[in-house]
Amino acid sequence: MHCPNCKGKDIGKIGNQQFYCWNCFIELSVLNGVFDVHQVEPDGSLSSLNDLFSEEERKPQW
Ligand SMILES: [Zn+2]
Repeated sequence: MHCPNCKGKDIGKIGNQQFYCWNCFIELSVLNGVFDVHQVEPDGSLSSLNDLFSEEERKPQW
């Protein structure tokens, strides 16, 4: 699989259905077959980046 944002393959698994891109520092959760994309803010909160991607782009490509 690769990151929908940077197309990098530097993806780490951080939990069940949860992944993290070490290249662009976004969190990817698989929800209903598509990635739920979040950016981790410096204060630890999450902001959704789903609006930046089409549903097609958010489909995991294994
Ligand atoms: Zn990335």
